Amino acid sequence: MTFGSHTGTHIDAPSHFVQDGVTIDALPIGLCIGETTFVDLTHLSSGEEVSADDLETATSGRQLEERMVLYFGWGHKFNSRDFYSRSPYLSRDAAELLVDAGVKLLGYDAPSPDNPANDRNAEEDSPIHKLLLGSGVWLLEYMNIPRPLPSRFWMAALPLRLMGLDGSPVRCVAAI
Ligand SMILES: [Zn+2]
Repeated sequence: MTFGSHTGTHIDAPSHFVQDGVTIDALPIGLCIGETTFVDLTHLSSGEEVSADDLETATSGRQLEERMVLYFGWGHKFNSRDFYSRSPYLSRDAAELLVDAGVKLLGYDAPSPDNPANDRNAEEDSPIHKLLLGSGVWLLEYMNIPRPLPSRFWMAALPLRLMGLDGSPVRCVAAI
């Protein structure tokens, strides 16, 4: 069996983008288990930017957990070209809002928090990845969420302890 550290549902460690960032074996494992905030953003699915206002509206009046999952209903596009080229993404303000709110593990059923136009080797290479990973937010990508979940749910998303690597596949489950 041969596969990459970012295969399927996986967690990005800071070292994926941050020079001298910590690697996946340094992830405090307790962060991967517990109550999680679910944010339904299906109205912003195809190719749209998620603004700080969008996040504030979608979470208003709720106490936020250190784990948060953004649901775009995008996972069913997996293996299509659109999955990468038209995926929803976060604005810089939205990413900063999540950092300020104390989110430490951010999941989404999309391939990246970045605008697809800012992919690797673009003029602006993955600025939202760098902002979040550089601010101590671990990223849980390519989630498979078959249907909307309660606004707060219990999640386990456990990576392999791959020494020195910049990510790991996870087995991710919700208990409802
Ligand atoms: Zn990744």
